Amino acid sequence: MSRPVTRAALVEQLRDLGVRPAGVLLVHTSFRAVRPVEGGPDGLIEALEVALGPRGTLVMPTMTDGASVFDPASTPTLDMGVVAERFWRRPGVTRSTHPGGSFAAKGPEAAAICAPQPLAPPHGPDSPVGRAHDRGAQVLLLGVGHEASTTVHLAEALFGVPYEVAHPTVVVEGGVARTVPIAEPDHCCEGFARLDGWLRARGQQREGRVGHARARLSEAREVVRAAIDELERDPLVFLCAPGDGCAECDRARASVAARE
Ligand SMILES: [Zn+2]
Repeated sequence: MSRPVTRAALVEQLRDLGVRPAGVLLVHTSFRAVRPVEGGPDGLIEALEVALGPRGTLVMPTMTDGASVFDPASTPTLDMGVVAERFWRRPGVTRSTHPGGSFAAKGPEAAAICAPQPLAPPHGPDSPVGRAHDRGAQVLLLGVGHEASTTVHLAEALFGVPYEVAHPTVVVEGGVARTVPIAEPDHCCEGFARLDGWLRARGQQREGRVGHARARLSEAREVVRAAIDELERDPLVFLCAPGDGCAECDRARASVAARE
């Protein structure tokens, strides 16, 4: 295995990449790609906090499966990676309350970003990812591509894509738990990887290394603009082609036909 990258070197990598001190930073991470780094997942979180400084706000997705009652103080994340799972449990971190699509944040904008939100769509304009976007957030992808980026779902919501899939989700109302369908634009998300080409063509993606991972940094507003420009040309641009054998995208396509 390669040598651990020190915290100080991580901070330098983040600054070189263009992480803005005092900004809002939404981070999606595969720690497997980043490691080894000094201090493990917490070392990476601390480096992100140092790069942002005390006036910056760090945001990560902490989504859950929605199959049981969601408690922001105890429900573990699902498929968000070890860094996000460690982040929301750290002191001073706020976690939002959406039963499936929660986020965690720390910093001056954390309370506003994690304020209660409508149930659907979970990544719409009035959600943590939408509020981060409105605050001029940067999106940092560490060892993952745009297929992992919730900001592209925000673009789908803002554009109003013609597909949606309902997920049964446990919500608590008046102290009573019940399962309700929450609709969102959903599919395999592999098509989001096309943002790489679109953003590079616009000169709107910084790329480099953080830890050992390939890192991508872009402005949330530019990601949304690039995605909506392509959606205007083809509202189904993010779905796999029919016949590609992608069950999730076939289901999204079927939802378009059902609404017509
Ligand atoms: Zn697909």
